[in-house]
Amino acid sequence: RPVVAVVGRPNVGKSTLVNRILGRREAVVQDTPGVTRDRVSYDANWAGREFVLVDTGGWIAKAEGMSAHIAEQAEMAIQLADAVLFVVDAKVGLTDEDEAVVKVLRRSGKPVVLAANKVDDERVEAEASSLWQLGLGEPYPVSALHGRGSGDLLDALVKVLPKTSAVEPDEVGGPHRVAIVGKPNVGKSSLLNRLASAQRSVVSDVSGTTVDPVDELVTIAGEPFRLIDTAGIRKRVKEASGSEYYAWLRTQAAIERSEVCVVVIDASEPISDQDLKILSSVEEAGRAMVVAFNKWDLTDEERHRYLGREIEQDLQTWKWAPTVNISALTGRNVDKIAKAVNKSLAGWETRVSTGKLNAFLGRIVAANPHPVRGGKQPRILFGTQAQNRPPTFILFTSGLMDAGYVRFVERKLREEFGFEGSPVHIQVRARA
Ligand code: GDP
Repeated sequence: RPVVAVVGRPNVGKSTLVNRILGRREAVVQDTPGVTRDRVSYDANWAGREFVLVDTGGWIAKAEGMSAHIAEQAEMAIQLADAVLFVVDAKVGLTDEDEAVVKVLRRSGKPVVLAANKVDDERVEAEASSLWQLGLGEPYPVSALHGRGSGDLLDALVKVLPKTSAVEPDEVGGPHRVAIVGKPNVGKSSLLNRLASAQRSVVSDVSGTTVDPVDELVTIAGEPFRLIDTAGIRKRVKEASGSEYYAWLRTQAAIERSEVCVVVIDASEPISDQDLKILSSVEEAGRAMVVAFNKWDLTDEERHRYLGREIEQDLQTWKWAPTVNISALTGRNVDKIAKAVNKSLAGWETRVSTGKLNAFLGRIVAANPHPVRGGKQPRILFGTQAQNRPPTFILFTSGLMDAGYVRFVERKLREEFGFEGSPVHIQVRARA
C-alpha cells in the first residue's frame, strides 16, 4: 500500500481532514500545538484504492525556530511517503512556514496534492484559487469540518498514487524483512551490532535482492534476513526537540515495511506503557511478531519472578507471540531469534482451506453457541479466510456478535490452527 503523508502547519486542519478521509472521529483532533499524538498512521481507502495515511498533525516543536522545525518535519514525512497531501488554510492564506514546506516538496519530486482547507462556503473559494501561485498544481478547496469538496480531493489523490509503494517493497522471495523495534535504550543498536558484526560484506552482496540503503542483510543462525531501517537504529539522534516523535515515526515506518517485527523489551526494568504501545502498533499493522527480552544478563531470580508477573498482567493480549530471552551484550540466545522469527512468519502465512474452516466453525457453533440476545441467537453461517499475512477471516453471521464471542472464536481458531506469532484478524458480516 502506498503511503501518503499529510503535511502542513499546525492548525490548518490536518487531523480533521484525516478524520474526514477515514470517515470517523477516532483520531483525536487537537487544537493545541505542541501535543504529541501516539498513533500516526492509518489504513485508508478511496474508490477501491488502499493507502496508508500518515498524520503528521500531532507534532510540532517549540515555537522558536518554527519554520525550521516544520521544514524538518515535512522533510522526514516526505522522505517516508509515496505522495503528499499538503494542507494549507485558505482563510489565512500563505505563510512563511507554508513556503518553507513548499521548498521541500519541490525538491522531493514526490507527487503532491494541494488541499485548501477551511473553505466552508463559496465565498472563501476565491481565496483558494490564489494558491495556484505555489506552483503545486490545482488547489482543491475543501472543508474538512463539513466534508465539502473532499471527494474531489480524494479523487485527485488516488490518481497520483503510485501502483506500488516505494517504502513498502513487495518483492516476493529474497530474505525476509525484519524490523527491530523498541523504545529507546532497550538495546536495539547493540543487538544490531551483534547481528551485523563481521558480516558487513554481506550487505548488498546477495544477488537478486534489492536493498534499501537504510537496510542491511545479515545472517542469523546461518539464515539471511533483511533488517529494515538499520540507519534509523544506528543513528544516534541528539536530544533535539521532536526527536521522540521522529523515533516514533521511524518505528511506524519500519513496522509498515516489515514482514516480522522483533520487539525488544528491557528485561531488567518493569514493562512500560511505551513497550505496550509498540506491541499494539505491530499487531494493528498486522505484522508477525517476536518479543525479545534483552539485558537478560542483568536479571536475577527475583527479577524473573517479577517479570513473569508483569507478562501475566500486561502481555496477555500478545501471548501468541514467541519470546526469547537474550543478551545483546554477551550474545546469549541471539541465534534463537532466527528460529522464533521463522515460527512467527509461518504462523503469519498460514492458510486454512474453506472446507476445514467451516467444519471447525460448525463444531464451535454446535458446542458453544452464541448467547441469546434480545430473543435471537446470532449464528455463524459461514466463514472464509480472506487472506493470509496475517490470517484474516470473514465470518458471515445471522446477527451481530458480541466482541467477547469473536474473541472466543479467535482463541479456538488459534488452538486449532496455530497462527503462532501472528495477529489474527476477524471481520464479522452480519446479515441484515
Ligand atoms: P537502543 O536505543 O535500543 O538502540 O539501545 P542501545 O543498543 O544503545 O543500548 C542502550 C544501553 O544498554 C547501552 O548502554 C548498551 O550498552 C546497553 N545494553 C544493550 N544491550 C544490553 C544487554 O544485553 N545487557 C546489558 N547489560 N546492557 C545492554
